[in-house]
Amino acid sequence: VHAKSDEEAAAKVAAAYADSGGPTIFDKIISKEIPSTIIYEDEKVLAFRDINPQAPVHVLVIPKLRDGLTQLGKAEPRHEDILGHLFYAAKIVAEKEGILDGFRVVINNGPTACQSVYHLHLHVLGGRQLKWPPG
Ligand code: IMP
Repeated sequence: VHAKSDEEAAAKVAAAYADSGGPTIFDKIISKEIPSTIIYEDEKVLAFRDINPQAPVHVLVIPKLRDGLTQLGKAEPRHEDILGHLFYAAKIVAEKEGILDGFRVVINNGPTACQSVYHLHLHVLGGRQLKWPPG
């Protein structure tokens, strides 16, 4: 019982801080302080393998400059260019990974969608038959 209330308390704290705009682990991936397997990089975006892959190909595409994009729901007109660039980078990743014929791009937005890192990222998934609807 004690462990469960600890867990609930931790979940509440996590929810409260989830979208605080504080630093995330992706800052250290961008700065290369934390190593990652980079699939594609340019001046605006970085694409690297997810540490906990949900498919044979699972790559995250992120803007190097978060600029308030903790999640897609925070997008503003000024973000239109980077949003387009992220999607084009997702296509390049799919091409490089040889999954252009079948892949999925996912954005989890907020706690209800199980977003865990508050720095916008596109999941590029493929390399197996994907099911629909997702969980
Ligand atoms: P979200 O749940 O949509 O926010 O996705 C966050 C993703 O980041 C998850 O799929 C995690 O596995 C992934 N992730 C977290 N930390 C790291 C890391 O250090 N390297 C690579 N991927 C990570």
